[in-house]
Amino acid sequence: MSSIEEFASMEKGREYYQKLVEELERLNERVHAFNNINHGISSGFPFSAKDNLCVKGVETTASSKVLSGYMPPYNATVIKRLFSKGFSFLGKTNMDEFGFGSFGINAPEIARNPFDERYVAGGSSSGAAVATSILKYHVAIAESTGGSIATPASFCGVVGFTPTYGTVSRYGLIDYSNSMDKIGVMARVAKDIKPIFDLIRGADGYDSTTTNSPITSINKKRLIVIDQLIGLVDQRIRSLFEKLLDKLNSMGYSIEHRSLDMIDASIASYYIIAMAEASTNLARYTGFKYGLKVENFEKGYNEFFTDARSAFGEEAKRRILLGTFVRSANVRDKYYFKALKVKDLLFNKLNEILKEGFIIMPVMPIPTPRIDDARKLTPLQVYKMDALTIPPNLCGFPHISFPYGYDNGLPVGAQVITSKFNDYSIINFVEEWEENFEYKFKYNIGEVR
Ligand code: GLN
Repeated sequence: MSSIEEFASMEKGREYYQKLVEELERLNERVHAFNNINHGISSGFPFSAKDNLCVKGVETTASSKVLSGYMPPYNATVIKRLFSKGFSFLGKTNMDEFGFGSFGINAPEIARNPFDERYVAGGSSSGAAVATSILKYHVAIAESTGGSIATPASFCGVVGFTPTYGTVSRYGLIDYSNSMDKIGVMARVAKDIKPIFDLIRGADGYDSTTTNSPITSINKKRLIVIDQLIGLVDQRIRSLFEKLLDKLNSMGYSIEHRSLDMIDASIASYYIIAMAEASTNLARYTGFKYGLKVENFEKGYNEFFTDARSAFGEEAKRRILLGTFVRSANVRDKYYFKALKVKDLLFNKLNEILKEGFIIMPVMPIPTPRIDDARKLTPLQVYKMDALTIPPNLCGFPHISFPYGYDNGLPVGAQVITSKFNDYSIINFVEEWEENFEYKFKYNIGEVR
């Protein structure tokens, strides 16, 4: 039984939701999972939305000061679809500003790992993962461009599903990189993911990249490890991962190894494309249309826009500069167009491998870092941490991350990737995994006793 069905079968009155919100509010002061909490919730299964998804009349900032006070006048398609089936909005979850980051530290308030608050929750959907980890009955609607669902899900010990690009409408999403942004789902168990995915996916007249392609569930019982990717992984994670492979082998999966020599090129390609698109998307924040209003019209042109755009965080500014550079006329062949070629090449190579079976790998090459240590990393060091999450994200392949162990009391996750539109197969794979492994949670807010 999914926890959605379990929840529906239980008696709950108004007091249940009051208590839920009170307890959540209290813990949120420490873990910063939510940017805002809906105190009006009084029925239905609770869901949260990453703060880059528009919910009508609810402040939506993508954790950016530039958008402070922005109240969308409409609901994103995913939100509309959830409302149509009686799901209830619990609040907006914290994130790295505009989705720029891997550790949740590029935000005004840093989300904390619920297993140990000195550690990061992962990013960019940091709050979605923390919320899922602390709430007993809840699903999170999150978004991934280059790993923002898999990474935080892995650090917080929950299941993170990123669907095939184009299956879920992006209408009402604050764009980061339109050609790669994917709205997905985090839940405590894989069983809760399929019903939500089925509800939110499907063609939408407001997003021309969406399709109604049938979703399949083909599982060849073969797991493929890409040697160069595993080669990047820290020894501690690697030995835990080897044990996972042994366990999966005993569950009837064969393990095979393949070689793929494009890791550095794929990281570079991802960041060039992502920043190029981000720099055009951020051009609309000029201080008079959305969010922050700069009303000093006596100032000169340059001064006015300098004021308006100084509200961006450091990482956003870096991406505006680099993104504008890589697509400028004199260098775009060298960077932007080359990056698109690398993406095509990588897609073809991975697509061939995926015809043989699922690709499996850890999510992050390092154990969960402390917040202090993550802050010491240079931007380039942070970008390189995405080596394992970039390949499926750059190419739009569906992938799912799941907890498979605990190291020093902190969860560790792995991910499986499959061919486009074979999304059900990997959700089923994690359902099968869950029958043999017990997930741990530190909090159970909303538990019915
Ligand atoms: N860490 C990656 C980046 O900063 C991915 C983030 C995301 O998926 N939104 O671009």
